[in-house]
Amino acid sequence: MTSGTSSGTWFNEALYPDWGQRFRVVKELAHRKSPFQDIRIFESSSHGRVLVLDGIVQITERDEFIYQEMLAHVPLFMHPNPKRVLIIGAGDGGVLRRVLQHRTVEKAVMVEIDGDVIELSKQHLPMFGKDAWNDPRAEVIVGDGIDYVKKSGDAAFDVIIVDSTDPIGVGDVLFTDDFYENCARILSDEGIIVNQCGVPFQQADELRETTARRAKFFPHVTAYLAAVPTYVGGFMTLGIAKKGAPPHRPDVVELARRAQGIAEGCQYWTPEVHVASFSLPPYIAQNLPRS
Ligand code: SAM
Repeated sequence: MTSGTSSGTWFNEALYPDWGQRFRVVKELAHRKSPFQDIRIFESSSHGRVLVLDGIVQITERDEFIYQEMLAHVPLFMHPNPKRVLIIGAGDGGVLRRVLQHRTVEKAVMVEIDGDVIELSKQHLPMFGKDAWNDPRAEVIVGDGIDYVKKSGDAAFDVIIVDSTDPIGVGDVLFTDDFYENCARILSDEGIIVNQCGVPFQQADELRETTARRAKFFPHVTAYLAAVPTYVGGFMTLGIAKKGAPPHRPDVVELARRAQGIAEGCQYWTPEVHVASFSLPPYIAQNLPRS
């Protein structure tokens, strides 16, 4: 089994040394070593087009909606009136598109370190960003997320969404005290930050460590769940932290009202799924600081 050439071959994910998933590769679409990482996009027979960075699956055409809807819609429906949103990473464009579905959003700034990911995603994965790239409210910056948050002014954003790679390589800086401290500073009084915290069944350290770090700079920290088939190992956790008052937990009636015009296009997020996603099984909840 090799992981390079086109038809009849397989791609083996290199996330865990002794266990993992594989995809039958129908057609190789792009393979490029950027200054930051190894980028690969292929057509699979099972999940449509797949984006892989450094041998790790980032997103597939077939299940991207699950992660993207939960990463974008949950914090935006929890914030009372989200106008200014900062997105870190997310070079495929899917989170940007979901954020811009919210009518309250006046400005969405996306900071992606690797311009090659954006370029190749526009070329081979147009179904993720669609026309969000041309939305006048969108500002797309190629740069390191930590440099951007350090340079940003106080209270510049209402919501920060971190759709990054895992805490290895270029993504590591996005899981540091320095990053979270600056994020707390550049968020407005009731500001919310959300970031991918891995699959706790396999990556419990990632959830435990990032939550403990964010708890130093945010009074309210927790996590919610999404079941993403190609993030293997069970539930994916999305860590959420908030400034100001305890997080407002809108009920399904309020969520349904706020989601008019958005919910109809969702395949995973619903008001009921939103509320239920905060119910954590003990093997996950034990990784969060005692509240
Ligand atoms: N959903 C995927 C996951 O959970 O594994 C992540 C998808 S998204 C494509 C990850 C993006 O984060 C990549 O395009 C990568 O280049 C970007 N990234 C990694 N480190 C970064 C940094 N320090 N600043 C900005 N973007 C970064």
